[in-house]
Amino acid sequence: MPRTDEVLADPRLVEAVTRVGRPAVKAAVAAAQQRARAGEIAPEAVADTAVAALPARGSSLNPVVNATGVLLHTNLGRAPLSAAAVEAVVAAAGPTDVELDLTSGRRTGRGLGMVEALAAAVPDAEAVHVVNNGAAALVLAATALAMGREIVISRGELVEIGDGFRLPDLLTSTGATLREVGTTNRTALADYTAAVGPETGFVLKVHPSNFVVTGFTADVPIEELATLQAPVVADIGSGLLTPHPLLPDEPDAAGTLRAGADLVIASGDKLLGGPQCGIIAGRADLVHRLRRHPLARALRVGKLTIAALEATLRVPPTPTARALATGRAELRARAEALAATLRAQGVEAQAVDSEATVGGGGAPGVPIASAAVRLPESYAERLRHAPHPVMTRVTNGACLVDLLAVPPTADTRIVDAVTAC
Ligand SMILES: *Cc1c(COP(=O)(O)O)cnc(C)c1O
Repeated sequence: MPRTDEVLADPRLVEAVTRVGRPAVKAAVAAAQQRARAGEIAPEAVADTAVAALPARGSSLNPVVNATGVLLHTNLGRAPLSAAAVEAVVAAAGPTDVELDLTSGRRTGRGLGMVEALAAAVPDAEAVHVVNNGAAALVLAATALAMGREIVISRGELVEIGDGFRLPDLLTSTGATLREVGTTNRTALADYTAAVGPETGFVLKVHPSNFVVTGFTADVPIEELATLQAPVVADIGSGLLTPHPLLPDEPDAAGTLRAGADLVIASGDKLLGGPQCGIIAGRADLVHRLRRHPLARALRVGKLTIAALEATLRVPPTPTARALATGRAELRARAEALAATLRAQGVEAQAVDSEATVGGGGAPGVPIASAAVRLPESYAERLRHAPHPVMTRVTNGACLVDLLAVPPTADTRIVDAVTAC
């Protein structure tokens, strides 16, 4: 049995220590030695086996192909970054001028280029601010504008956003009180009017981004809320900056501000197609109060997010926008080509039309025309275990490799993964 220090001296393992860390390398060597002792591999094969078993990188996060047909999958990190955003993140990884003006050598505001790009992308806003995520934006607004006061909100908009987190709990955790108005299915302007008074911090309108209520329903549009004697904060969720033709019921920042909202709040990693962050846009005096509140410092975004958001905004289209614009004909052609390639390798594969969704990021219940490669159901699990995992969807006893959220450049990864299993 080769000694541990001898195996660790293998140049490939010496190099791996700088890439994945010593404990991971030692664990791989120990596992290989164990296998040699058990007679599963030859003692001379210990180093090769350890090298083959090394993790790919220092982080345990694995890149996967999103072939689920859920465009913004929360469990898969929501929106994928554009190539321009990835390049910006890599460039910002070292020391950067995030709070420095290289011309004067003086300190500046943080991420001014990002703020400028966001302001240009939301021209209806007098000012903008960016925090860690949509939930942080809500917490900041509630703390700065309604601590010890009331947030007036419809009972139809007391939403659970996922993983057991509920907006009402989030809002009251700031010391604000909720003044619930209306009912689950119907709320009228008169309900708001009766509730708004000297105790009101703001009126909050929350977009139902992950559920649909149908039937005998009514809610109050922003235009009417804007007539109340209180600021109106609109949580639009998805981060659409302008209307999207495929998603007519999804509110957008421009339309919401023009309708009279004083502040709009949205996520950066949903339909905006950028990094995780929370966007706040609207009236200059309110944005300023939020930006200068002590809590803002605890919710600020890192330089990697600043870099990614600016590049996302300055270099359209995002992969998310591109996916939405693709159209079934093109997806179907790719599915046909993939299925033919796989059939030629003896895989039972067939191109089919499918219905994808936007997912946790918005547009609940809206089907998006897509296409998929249908494989036997057992492929779903095997593809998840492939060296480059492909996440699919199981429907009616079949594994669907849905192409909506798969960039065309990843089609070869699907072929490789299917072939490998
Ligand atoms: C997604 C969402 C949130 C939470 O935003 P995060 O960026 O996930 O923190 C809040 N409100 C609405 C309406 C949402 O859709």
